[in-house]
Amino acid sequence: MGPPGAGKGTQATRLADALSVPAISTGDIFRSNVAAGTPLGVQAQRYMNAGEYVPDSVTDAMLEARLDEPEAANGWLLDGYPRTVGQVAALEAVLEARSHRLNAVLVLTVDEEELVQRLAKRALTEGRADDTEEVIRRRQEVYRAQTAPLLESYEKRGLLTTVPGSGPVAKVTESLFEALSLSATRQP
Ligand code: ADP
Repeated sequence: MGPPGAGKGTQATRLADALSVPAISTGDIFRSNVAAGTPLGVQAQRYMNAGEYVPDSVTDAMLEARLDEPEAANGWLLDGYPRTVGQVAALEAVLEARSHRLNAVLVLTVDEEELVQRLAKRALTEGRADDTEEVIRRRQEVYRAQTAPLLESYEKRGLLTTVPGSGPVAKVTESLFEALSLSATRQP
């Protein structure tokens, strides 16, 4: 978890590779559906371009289907899900139905000014439709209002570890690994 621009995608790929599990990014799945012009993509696009969350009903169904793919049978790392109270509950239900559980929740933190600068820079290289200044600000607001409050419940369950997301990419990955092994020792 972590605000837009914190480096979730970069770090999720690195961690997942090392753990030999798929990194499942809801943002990437939406973007490939938009690019392919699927009905899901058509539905998601207007929310994404405005910096708003895609409705839970759409996102939850998509995520559940992805977790049921054979590739995900031995574990996974979620990037960008859950982001709302409803998604936290939906994920719990999905896990419970499959007798799986969350091992850890990792949060990357970065100052808001640095986040905005990173995303503005990415806008120049990647040209993502939601990396305009106005939409970047809106995405930060939506994260603060809807997603940041969810951390408390994971904290209470002893699952949460917060890792600073600034500094060299490899250094952040190292800190995440340390956090994961710490959280493994906390598991019952
Ligand atoms: P970022 O973390 O920089 O916002 P993502 O690629 O993770 O980038 O997400 C891009 C967009 O995709 C979000 O702004 C939102 O519209 C949509 N999206 C991704 N994940 C979710 C989710 N879990 N719930 C609702 N919408 C989502």
